[in-house]
Amino acid sequence: MEYGPAPEAADQVMNWLKARARFGHYIDGAFTEPGETFDTANPATGEVLAQVSQGSAADIERAVAAARAALPAWSRLPGHERAKWLYALARHIQKRERFLAVLETLDNGKPIRESRDIDVPLAARHFYHHAGWAEILEDEFPGAQPVGVCGQIIPWNFPLLMLAWKIAPALAAGNTVVLKPAEFTPLTALAFAEICAEIGLPRGVVNIVTGDGATGAALVDAPVDKIAFTGSTEVGRAIRKATAGRDVKLTLELGGKSPFIVFADADLDAAVEGVVDSIWFNQGQVCCAGSRILVAESIAPVFQKRLATRMAKLRVGDPLDKCTDIGAIVAPVQVQRIRRLIAEGEAQGARLHTAPVQLPDRGCFLAPGYLTDVAPANILSDTEIFGPYATVTTFRTPDEAVTLANNSRYGLAASIWSENVNLALDVASRVKAGVVWVNSTNVFDAGAGFGGYRESGFGREGGREGMREYLSWPGPKTRPEAQPT
Ligand code: NAD
Repeated sequence: MEYGPAPEAADQVMNWLKARARFGHYIDGAFTEPGETFDTANPATGEVLAQVSQGSAADIERAVAAARAALPAWSRLPGHERAKWLYALARHIQKRERFLAVLETLDNGKPIRESRDIDVPLAARHFYHHAGWAEILEDEFPGAQPVGVCGQIIPWNFPLLMLAWKIAPALAAGNTVVLKPAEFTPLTALAFAEICAEIGLPRGVVNIVTGDGATGAALVDAPVDKIAFTGSTEVGRAIRKATAGRDVKLTLELGGKSPFIVFADADLDAAVEGVVDSIWFNQGQVCCAGSRILVAESIAPVFQKRLATRMAKLRVGDPLDKCTDIGAIVAPVQVQRIRRLIAEGEAQGARLHTAPVQLPDRGCFLAPGYLTDVAPANILSDTEIFGPYATVTTFRTPDEAVTLANNSRYGLAASIWSENVNLALDVASRVKAGVVWVNSTNVFDAGAGFGGYRESGFGREGGREGMREYLSWPGPKTRPEAQPT
């Protein structure tokens, strides 16, 4: 087996886990004594990696108080001073990139190639980018103030990257934060807390409280000024209800069922490779995954044949092996959920085509695949599977493609494949999605706003739009939209 990062990074991680074993929360610049704990395990093997504290309402209260106490000094720092801290966080993520990549892969199950080449570098890039925003904040957003104390709740599919998406803009804008990582994947957030301590980030500016949904709910109920949530639409809805009527700024980044539209004139090899990057990246556990493939009827047989041939070559197995394409699903409960959903769809007439792969005999592995014969009323046509399975449906005209693409309760992303740029741009403008890619997919950049419509949530992360979510304009006269143009 060929390990991705040097094998010594794996040893370092195992030694780090052995030395820590039980983690407390990171509150007010220090780790607390672990209280009640839960296990976090490697989904590829079932092996317990560490024990992590279950955050109580009292822990949340202490963390919010620490963030509140740190707020005046942090928000009064000139932007260029805050930028120095963000640059330091970025550099220290880079310094530990191999360590963090291995830790992420162990805790989450994603292939090391992805954590090494995507998650960790993009997390560092997010801090660099937002250090730049901190430098120019006063010029770019005159009169703006930080929102205050931000409660941030993140999912398990991109643990460190989602942390960066939340913490970097918040800090750049002068806010302080309490972040709750997902219960399946708390370890890179705790490693990040160590980085905060090591660089001497002023205490209370970043607080990390681990725990499950109850901990997240306690954070939502706490006296914070903003809640930024990324996760399922169901929990997003509950958070919206819980914050209704309170003076809390809210952004929700929720689920998706994104169309992947292949026109007859598309470069088929590129489009098939696009499917690999779209639905089989991170085992399909991606909010903006192209989980609904819409393909022109005239090329559907040849496209499907090529897809099946490519799928058969995917390598499923040990996530630490750098040759692996498909790693482990994050937890047994997610495997069961995906299997149940697929079985229900099959019972309603869908046909599942899976790769002829040998799965490891233990761990949370699923053979990648796709589904055909998915009728509009089938549960799989608009339910987020959040696993390595896309539905394949055909269309005849561009109008029909747009109608099918928009026939969803979600509106997060879309990917359009055609060699005719006029057609691609026309369709792009008619698809209701927060992000539209043409002849590409899953391209993320800290400088571009990301977010959804409809039940995919509201608010944007990244770029100028993302910065605005962490700023407030006191008084109607200084609101940018009230200014003369
Ligand atoms: P989830 O909603 O179950 O959990 C997300 C986070 O919310 C976790 O930290 C969890 O502990 C916490 N939580 C659970 N119940 C809570 C409650 N009642 N109050 C407050 N917090 C609570 O989602 P998940 O299964 O971890 O993640 C998968 C989902 O996230 C998918 O639907 C995916 O599409 C979505 N997602 C969206 C984006 C985006 O940017 N739009 C990005 C990544 C993932």
